[in-house]
Amino acid sequence: MSVTTTTFTPRFIVPSSVKPSSSSSTVSACFARLSNNSTPPRLIRNQPVFAAPAPIINPTWRGDMGSESYDEAIAALKKLLSEKEELAPVAAAKIEQITAQLSTPDTKPAFDPVERIKTGFAKFKTEKYLTNPALYDELSKGQSPKFMVFACSDSRVCPSHVLDFQPGEAFVVRNVANMVPPFDKVKYAGVGAAVEYAVLHLKVEQIIVIGHSRCGGIKGLMTFPDEGPHTTDFIEDWVKVCAPAKSKVKAETSSTSIDDQCVTCEKEAVNVSIANLLTYPFVRNGLVKKTLALKGGHYDFVNGTFELWGLDFNLSPPTSA
Ligand SMILES: [Zn+2]
Repeated sequence: MSVTTTTFTPRFIVPSSVKPSSSSSTVSACFARLSNNSTPPRLIRNQPVFAAPAPIINPTWRGDMGSESYDEAIAALKKLLSEKEELAPVAAAKIEQITAQLSTPDTKPAFDPVERIKTGFAKFKTEKYLTNPALYDELSKGQSPKFMVFACSDSRVCPSHVLDFQPGEAFVVRNVANMVPPFDKVKYAGVGAAVEYAVLHLKVEQIIVIGHSRCGGIKGLMTFPDEGPHTTDFIEDWVKVCAPAKSKVKAETSSTSIDDQCVTCEKEAVNVSIANLLTYPFVRNGLVKKTLALKGGHYDFVNGTFELWGLDFNLSPPTSA
């Protein structure tokens, strides 16, 4: 099968001027690149890139391989140690890891992330890409999605899966607890750029903010103390984007369990995000011209349901599925 001829070996991006002549010189080439100020690394190349750090031993070694591979791995590490003294701590840690893996009886094959990516893409290419050339030919010319979607980064709630969005259908932003912060060029430029691009350039017709059941970000919002020093670098500050939802839920449902409060807050936070979208001038313009509509949604993966609602500051009756 003609999967694009990438070897899927993790590779370091090395400018051609310091490209290693053989794989055995990868480590020294990388150090050369880091100290070479005159040739900035090319970060974008017209080929698939797996920008993982250069492996110091054979990256295909796995715990389920035999002792011969173990001996080879150790020999490779010892060779590296003799060549590169500064790698000693890294190599020692690797030896410890390999030894621990060998001494632990393995009941299932070790997870191989490279193999997982490789088989995943091969499956996609065979079953989707190659069976729908018209779609992918069209998409190679551009995109004109009708939807912009805000969804949580949670691995269980991918909107393309849950709502069966096909490539080209939805411009998606995913972040912790699917929050839309208010217009702020300094603090929230990332989200602002996405909304601006979707509304002004792609001219999406719908923006949907989708919350979900058992959202860790919402639970954090509901349980982090309102006062006092933060215990996280980013999370507490980020989820406070929807602090008004927490205040409302605490005031209105204080007698219910924290789990029930979280469910209510998962939906209220969506409403706060939709209200925040109104702080973007181009969103307001779209609403006035009726070229754009805003919707809220909630995906419940415990009960297998999806709720969708419009927001005009009086919630319209929800549609359930
Ligand atoms: Zn979540």
